[in-house]
Amino acid sequence: QAKANGRSNYQYFTADLNILASERLQLETSMRQALANSEFELFYQPQADLASGEVIGAEALIRWRHPEHGLIPPGKFIPVAEESRLVVPMGNWVLREACRQAAAWQAAGVPPLTIAVNLSPLQLHQANLLEIVADALAASGLEAQCLELEVTESVVMQEVEHVMAMLHGLKRLGVKLSIDDFGTGYSSLSYLKRFAFDKLKVDQSFVRDLTTDPNDAAIVLAIIGLGKTLGMSVLAEGVENQEQLAFLRNAGTDAIQGFLFNRPLPADEFIAWLRTAPGLPATEAPTARERR
Ligand code: C2E
Ligand code: MG
Ligand code: MG
Ligand code: MG
Repeated sequence: QAKANGRSNYQYFTADLNILASERLQLETSMRQALANSEFELFYQPQADLASGEVIGAEALIRWRHPEHGLIPPGKFIPVAEESRLVVPMGNWVLREACRQAAAWQAAGVPPLTIAVNLSPLQLHQANLLEIVADALAASGLEAQCLELEVTESVVMQEVEHVMAMLHGLKRLGVKLSIDDFGTGYSSLSYLKRFAFDKLKVDQSFVRDLTTDPNDAAIVLAIIGLGKTLGMSVLAEGVENQEQLAFLRNAGTDAIQGFLFNRPLPADEFIAWLRTAPGLPATEAPTARERR
């Protein structure tokens, strides 16, 4: 059992083991300051429904706008934030900010979008997560059904009873729940019997070579079949070209997210794009702008 081996064995701690301890400490200190100085920012990546071609939601993705080093992607700091538990206050800020932004867009007349927020495994282990989510909704005025929380399947491997209770509590609040990066974690799938996730997100690593690698194609078809049979909506991540889109459409995927539709954008650019160019290109090649 992962738990018996102690926290340092959690799969999500291993990403940056080659960073020296001193560097980690320094990064942790500057992240703490950055949180206090509001240097973190959310970008938004649209999700398109394949049947209608319309934008149905957006995933909020954290960035660090560092005064000297510029824009830093989450892969560079989330692993250390996990390790230092700083990901908990950071993630709570992300929740509040994403809810605030989504409610502000609605107030400005944008059709309701579901806003998806990534939850760290450590956030799911907070005793007061339900209050934190309820507070973020109440403070923003966002309806619960407009918030979607993404968890990875690995979270269901540890402290299963606690996690199940938490997921059911979140569901009672009315928020949507999705499984992120499906197929990449250590998982027994038995949790799928015990909890009805609303959405399954097929990991981009299977989508990348979908049209050239028969193994990837088989895996994606199996995941889509599993998701649909269990009553989940299936979204494919990392869709970059028309060939992938055609395959996924044909296979019955409900929705996509990826550079083909758009990359993650700062809030103001996202909303400007949403007002002018929404809708999924059904047959044309993506424009240079979408590719960037
Ligand atoms: P994720 O939740 O699976 O997010 C999707 C990632 O795929 C994003 O990377 C996005 O920019 C990238 N992506 C989207 N479309 C494409 C595509 O067509 N091709 C390719 N190659 N990549 C695409 P990003 O923003 O760098 O985030 C990386 C990961 O960092 C996220 O993976 C998530 O696990 C984590 N993360 C991001 N924001 C947060 C956050 O607020 N809290 C927590 N706990 N984790 C976060
Ligand atoms: Mg995600
Ligand atoms: Mg993902
Ligand atoms: Mg990921």
